Amino acid sequence: MSALSFSSGLPILLGMSGTLVVNADQLAATVLEMEADRRTADHDRAMAAERAAVELGRPDLAARARLLAADALCRRGDLTAAAPLLHEVHRWAVREGERFVLARSHFLLAILHTCLGDNAEARRHALLSVDHLPDDAPPLLRGRHLVTLALAFDSVSRADAAPYHAEALDIAAAAGDHELSRSVLNNMAYAAYQAGDVEAAGELAERMRGLVARTGVVLRPCDLDTLARVLMLQGRFAQAEATLLPSVAPGADWSAADAEGDMLPEMLLTLAEAQRLGGALDRASATIDRCFALCAERGTADTAARTRRELARLHAAHGRFREAYEEQCRYDEESQALRSAEREEQARLTQFVFESREGRRESARFREMALRDALTGIYNRRFVDAQLPSLIARAAERGTPLSAALVDVDFFKRVNDTLSHEVGDLVLQRIAALMSGAVEEPATVARLGGEEFVVVLPEVAHADAASCCEAIRLAVQRHDWRDLTGDLPVTVSVGVTTTLDGRTTAAALLSQADRNLYAAKRSGRNRVMADPG
Ligand code: GH3
Ligand code: MG
Ligand code: MG
Repeated sequence: MSALSFSSGLPILLGMSGTLVVNADQLAATVLEMEADRRTADHDRAMAAERAAVELGRPDLAARARLLAADALCRRGDLTAAAPLLHEVHRWAVREGERFVLARSHFLLAILHTCLGDNAEARRHALLSVDHLPDDAPPLLRGRHLVTLALAFDSVSRADAAPYHAEALDIAAAAGDHELSRSVLNNMAYAAYQAGDVEAAGELAERMRGLVARTGVVLRPCDLDTLARVLMLQGRFAQAEATLLPSVAPGADWSAADAEGDMLPEMLLTLAEAQRLGGALDRASATIDRCFALCAERGTADTAARTRRELARLHAAHGRFREAYEEQCRYDEESQALRSAEREEQARLTQFVFESREGRRESARFREMALRDALTGIYNRRFVDAQLPSLIARAAERGTPLSAALVDVDFFKRVNDTLSHEVGDLVLQRIAALMSGAVEEPATVARLGGEEFVVVLPEVAHADAASCCEAIRLAVQRHDWRDLTGDLPVTVSVGVTTTLDGRTTAAALLSQADRNLYAAKRSGRNRVMADPG
């Protein structure tokens, strides 16, 4: 053994201040810093932190470091390597009840599912990633989780995303973290641009400029791309071009974090569009050539396909409709191929990221969590409010059905009045358990309040939804209630409704289920009523 080796066997890991990490407290602080600023957590550094955690006997820190290593793989685009790591740590955290690690694994699963194009799953994980963060978690970490949550909701509803953006902005302001403010404002402006909301987009772009003027924070290429897109939305094409030109000029100063990947080709694509719309067709043509060359060099197939669409539009602007048509066909083919490659990758990765039944129920330890009902331990109204819009959006994206049922206990007041409120509570608990046992994943059972429950049945159409509800009704009716209620029978009435294509809202779906429930009550209770006709 050489005289210089350290006796502890700790790998060499430097904390943020540059000092060597030699104990668990220092390691905890270093892991937390890496979590708060993902860019400081490259793969090697995260692996060194994991080894140090193992040496120091801290499996929780090892798990968090391993998540950081998986995150680094994700950012490199290596989802195949990242997915099993994430899944493994997530399962461990569920089993051990490590809440902080769970917050982190849900956070990264949200990002992974976003990369895989599964927005509904991304939203579910993002929601749980904020929900699992303990109250004493560092505010900036909460801020980062909120950013991911807000982004996940932007694609369905900007109104739902707004409070999350706002809270992240508040946290950034309170901590004086201008980088976080910049990134939140950029996300909000981009969402407003995508929604075509000229007024909000313009106002947010102004706020971004105001932040720069006030704090000196430096805009990144993605911010400039957003500003240019907002200007284009406002019809200010020359200003959009001027905003982008300095960054795409050869030799422009790009940070290491931005220089690779698809940001430069994306900016060139935005530039080409601004130039075409501003009437500078020759400049647009040169920009497109440059963009194609760069996409080929970097293998960014998605940007390349959209550049083809831009070329088709440029041909059309020139009046060259045949070329435009041919280019459009090539775009259609390429994007088709890309989408099926994406679907294949998603299918291949599903086995790793699919959480087991046990995982989804997330063990009794989390019953006190904000998304759980305190009395019965099943999900509560908050969970349904947060999840149902995502599930509807997924049904709409995929053109698949979705059913929802309201389940109400019959004459429940009698149980309370003739027995006791305590017995009433026990009945509710047992009904929740019976219902949970009667449905299969991915169906979800939640307590809306009082003696009213909801069952959400993704990808289930009319007939199967009705028989699932009938199974619930029978499970309650056939259960031996004598130990609890004596001679008093316990039954439920159910109103179930279905959307075949997701073209509805959560409120509309639940009120139709409620109308059907009312019909079930009126026609004698202890029955299932589905949509009329
Ligand atoms: P219906 O068949 O028309 O639904 O009759 P019902 O008696 O079940 O309906 P109603 O809405 O009149 O009564 C519901 C009762 O549920 C009233 C309330 O006291 C009781 N309740 C609501 N929440 C709880 C709870 O958490 N525990 C208990 N034990 N009772 C509850
Ligand atoms: Mg009721
Ligand atoms: Mg009732």
